[in-house]
Amino acid sequence: MPDRYLSFTGTAPGRFLTRRLGLPQPAALHRWSPDRPALDGPLLPLTAGPSALDLAPVLARTGPAVDPAGAAARPAAVVLDATGVRDVDTLAGVHAALHPVVRSVAPSGRIVVLGAPLDPADHHQSAAQQALEGFTRSLGKEIGGGRTVNLVRLTDAGAAESTLRFLLSPRSAYVSGQVIDVLAAAGPVPPADPGRPLAGRTALVTGAARGIGAAVAETLARDGARVVVLDVPQAAQDARRLADHLGGTALTLDITAADAGERIAAELPGGLDVLVHNAGVTRDRRLVNMPAERWSSVLDVNLASVLRTTDALLAEGTLRPGGRIVATASIAGLAGNAGQTNYGASKAGIVGLVRSLAPRALAEHGVTVNAVAPGFIETRMTAAVPLFIREAGRRMNSLAQGGLPVDVAETTAWLADPASGAVNGQVVRVCGQSLLGA
Ligand code: NAD
Repeated sequence: MPDRYLSFTGTAPGRFLTRRLGLPQPAALHRWSPDRPALDGPLLPLTAGPSALDLAPVLARTGPAVDPAGAAARPAAVVLDATGVRDVDTLAGVHAALHPVVRSVAPSGRIVVLGAPLDPADHHQSAAQQALEGFTRSLGKEIGGGRTVNLVRLTDAGAAESTLRFLLSPRSAYVSGQVIDVLAAAGPVPPADPGRPLAGRTALVTGAARGIGAAVAETLARDGARVVVLDVPQAAQDARRLADHLGGTALTLDITAADAGERIAAELPGGLDVLVHNAGVTRDRRLVNMPAERWSSVLDVNLASVLRTTDALLAEGTLRPGGRIVATASIAGLAGNAGQTNYGASKAGIVGLVRSLAPRALAEHGVTVNAVAPGFIETRMTAAVPLFIREAGRRMNSLAQGGLPVDVAETTAWLADPASGAVNGQVVRVCGQSLLGA
């Protein structure tokens, strides 16, 4: 279902009229493509307060050319190192650094604020570092023009390289207002070919015959992975067609089968590196009208099967050390949604699973566990939503438009990257900074 309002505001008369009426102004987002793989300008590094980060060599490898003197009129990216902000006085350095440059950031540009973990023994440091969160989210809501603003909390710049590479690229076009902790003990970051970081790795994507899952399979294959496209028997033809196109294999399986994990393990005697739990269903009804079957079918696909297969594949040792699990939550699981008590419960359950399992899976199996939480993404699922609710879903975010399946896929690919071992237990919203929920 094409976004006609987005097309209309892309024309001169459309822009004129909608501006006069004070209506939202969605910008055409710069997404990754082979002929436009990087941001259209240099990166301006800034600092607020004293910093102990060894950032320069990492920024030099993240993509955009670094312009330390700020010689370019229009930076496409700004990285503000605020890890040394310890109190309200040093917090003023954030304003001092960004106030003069924020107007000059190019359309679809990126602002990444770097923060430190909150120090439980120092409430002044905690107040100032937490302040960065409100700052980031507020700037994300006001900046416009397809620009994004995110906060990364880190202690080691090298461990955050894959995260910075993602956030400072067109791949993160629909990720804004996020706070990402890159704090897990990661071990040495493997040398990677940023062009094909998943070369030699095997990835399995559930529900991959269409929609977001198909985009995830395509993106992981682009990044070098051998992909297993899993979907229900009714979708076998589409799954096989996609697998053939990607040079991967199709696996026809209902993920709710009690032995689904064991069957996946049997298909992959060589092991698995990336497990993407994407299969999901909605069966909306308000709770008063919801029969038990609607509740249980949604909980079974979206949550119970994720728990069962994860447990089985970890127990069988199918997921190799260095492995990555990426589950799919939803903003409905964070903010709640009328008519979706079953779906919201299942997706909030994913958040609980990720937060609890992540430290143990990393310590015991060397596997990270994270989730993506899509907002309004243009798929068959959202094309079926009634017109006015669909329009509200599209506009009620800082980028004033829906995301595309590829936006979720790019975020998944970053979490699946072998260099993302320090990103663990995170729930990253791919929602254009939706106004729903925190
Ligand atoms: P979709 O309905 O287009 O695709 C879902 C796929 O999962 C289908 O191919 C389906 O056959 C498969 N599937 C369903 N039950 C299965 C089962 N038991 N075993 C194996 N495969 C099964 O949905 P989508 O919009 O691409 O959504 C993908 C994921 O993203 C879901 O988890 C969904 O809840 C989540 N999500 C989507 C949006 C959105 O805006 N589209 C927003 C938030 C979250």
